[in-house]
Amino acid sequence: MKKILTCVGTRPNLIKITQLDRWFAEYPQVQHALLHTGQHYDDKMNDIFFRELGIRRPDVHLHIPAGTQVQVISAIMTEFEKYITANRPDLVMVPGDVNSTFACAFVAQRHGIPVAHIESGLRSFDMTMPEEANRILVDALADLFFITEESGRINLLKEGKPEEKMVFTGNTMIDSLVAFMPVIEKSTVRQQLGLHKYYLLTFHRPVNVDEPKQLTLLCEIIRHISQRAQVVFPVHPRTRLRIQEFGINSLLASPNIILTEPFGYLDFIHLAKYAMAVITDSGGVQEETTYMGVPCITVRPSTERPVTVTEGTNTLARLHQDEILSLLTDIENGNYKKGNIPKLWDGFASKRLVEAAVRFVTA
Ligand code: UDP
Repeated sequence: MKKILTCVGTRPNLIKITQLDRWFAEYPQVQHALLHTGQHYDDKMNDIFFRELGIRRPDVHLHIPAGTQVQVISAIMTEFEKYITANRPDLVMVPGDVNSTFACAFVAQRHGIPVAHIESGLRSFDMTMPEEANRILVDALADLFFITEESGRINLLKEGKPEEKMVFTGNTMIDSLVAFMPVIEKSTVRQQLGLHKYYLLTFHRPVNVDEPKQLTLLCEIIRHISQRAQVVFPVHPRTRLRIQEFGINSLLASPNIILTEPFGYLDFIHLAKYAMAVITDSGGVQEETTYMGVPCITVRPSTERPVTVTEGTNTLARLHQDEILSLLTDIENGNYKKGNIPKLWDGFASKRLVEAAVRFVTA
């Protein structure tokens, strides 16, 4: 029997794969296995997604300990090599752009196992982002390119990748949103937090949170935003650590700023759906807000998901108070773009992807 192995390691990876098994069930001639590297390991960044989204227990867990990026990547490579030497799959699928994505793609390619990249071709053209290097490296190693938006196809063609190896699947992250929307609607998180008009924030990119100057400025901007409406800020573990390290907790001490642990997916998407806007530096959140038609301000110099800006509700902004507040004024006054849903973000990307993966291994 042909074997396909999907490798995940982080929160955004998990959200991209929730619907795969539903479609693999239609192909009993192929065995689908799930491997978790353990790159994200705490309850709020990992376990809760398994509980809420019905993702089955990974067939194999590498339990990689935290460390520097190089330590994590090399530990994943070492352990993953042991696994695939003993259990050789016919195809390794890797979603997204995190260190697990790159580490698993590299090992598979070295062992002559074909690699399929889920969310292929995205480019921010900003090599200071570790994710950008991961995207380029994984696409350099891949044999099959699953594409979420037109820019991905164009970037891959420019890099000389053969068009016949590309499959425009649409966005598997949106499949999760569509599948869970009835449950998301039922969340009571707004009542629990006493929310009325609010902005939802997420920040974790090194460019915004790793330097004291930038993070202090961000916290000051958040204080200004909280003078207009309530602010809900689920703090990513990386950002929490930096706020403590730089001793700037007091900047966020205000009754209108609700600091929480990261939310589970269902509560988070519920909050995003009913927010006045989402202000973020996340990759995936730009796409989720575009799908839901919720204004999104992405505080980054570039985006690897340009369709969210050209067709969706996303706008890039610098970490600059006037620029961000002026966008919020437009949103509050109803002068902000409404956006459209990009091509094939229809809840069936995983179906197309599984079809193509099965065809690849059974051809
Ligand atoms: N997310 C979540 N809880 C939160 C914040 C985000 O479940 O408190 C989800 C969000 O809906 C999206 C994913 O996490 O699906 C994005 O992850 P993240 O921003 O960490 O990664 P990126 O997309 O930037 O790689």
